[in-house]
Amino acid sequence: MCVFCGIVAGELPKHEVYSGERVLAFLDINPATRGHTLVVPRRHVERLPELSREEAAELLEVAGAVARACEAQLGASGANFWINQGSVAGQVVPHLHMHVVPRYAEDEIRVELQQARAEEEELQQVAEKLRKGLE
Ligand code: AMP
Repeated sequence: MCVFCGIVAGELPKHEVYSGERVLAFLDINPATRGHTLVVPRRHVERLPELSREEAAELLEVAGAVARACEAQLGASGANFWINQGSVAGQVVPHLHMHVVPRYAEDEIRVELQQARAEEEELQQVAEKLRKGLE
């Protein structure tokens, strides 16, 4: 059984933050900042597109509410929300989870993408491929 399914089933310990109909939120045992929380669907899915609309809506709603609670209760002033999808993106636990990492004025977290301006033609080609993929 996957570790987060074990947590959802109540067979593994957790520091629960929220328990909803379709999602559960609990503290990450290796917090990047104080209040770092994982929001997971109760149902085992690995990737974002596998979520139902209802699960996706509750997951986003709870993630936003957790960030707001971190501001109200812990003194955070913002948050990063992210999902690592696939091992290439750093996903270690194969049960979809959204990290909610509250941010503090003095924290030392760096979230940086190495971005570079692309050629117009390249952007056009990529957008066309994606539009096809989304048809
Ligand atoms: P990811 O790299 O996105 O798959 O992240 C998995 C996250 O799960 C990591 O931040 C871990 O610290 C966290 N984690 C792993 N096991 C547990 C657990 N038993 N309880 C809470 N968090 C966990």
